[in-house]
Amino acid sequence: MAAERKHHAASAARQRARKSNIRPQATGARVEDRPPSESIVRCRWAQDELSVQYHDAEWGVPVHDDRLLFEFLILEGAQAGLSWITILRKRENYRKAFDNFDPAKIARYDARKVAQLLADPGIVRNRLKIAAAIQNAKAFLAVQKEFGTFDTFLWQFVGGRPIQNRRKSFDQVPARTRESDAMSKELSRRGFKFVGSTICYAFMQAVGMVNDHTANCFRYQKLAKITPPQPASRRRSSPLG
Ligand SMILES: [Zn+2]
Repeated sequence: MAAERKHHAASAARQRARKSNIRPQATGARVEDRPPSESIVRCRWAQDELSVQYHDAEWGVPVHDDRLLFEFLILEGAQAGLSWITILRKRENYRKAFDNFDPAKIARYDARKVAQLLADPGIVRNRLKIAAAIQNAKAFLAVQKEFGTFDTFLWQFVGGRPIQNRRKSFDQVPARTRESDAMSKELSRRGFKFVGSTICYAFMQAVGMVNDHTANCFRYQKLAKITPPQPASRRRSSPLG
């Protein structure tokens, strides 16, 4: 049993720690403290602890907060060519390095700040991506000025409410859709960078513009319940208050 092995390993570690007078680590193989999770079915991609946490709490939950929308836009752009888990692990570093994704502050970043970011191992040190974050902050502020909120502008691409898909498996999830194509085109036209259709679609999934949890995932029903599909009315809904 893996649990026993882990438990045994933990005891051994405690013994070693006692002998060497070092405090045992608080984290590690404390399997017995975790809730039983065998019965919970999740999207296949949620494997490691951080991904599971993100999947269960955030992925696909409709976001209507401009700051958080901006955060996701920058993180999805930073992800290009890398795995999402890489970005998740760096997320706290990103928040520190990028003034908690305050677009007004980022729009004013100068050459000195860029040099500082390029030297920061906590983030993806890519000159183009860093330049894109600054450019996107400027474009974001322009959209806010025109539409009142970035939220208003953004959700128009799905008619104001989440698109409820019902995917049987993750193989059925496309990399891009008509909606993400439209969003990408419009963002590009407005000067945003790193906003290809694939990046836009990943963003739409993250901020709940589409529900792409597979139908067997325990989060699917919860999120589908928030906004049942009823395209007859295109009234703006605010499912999470
Ligand atoms: Zn899921």
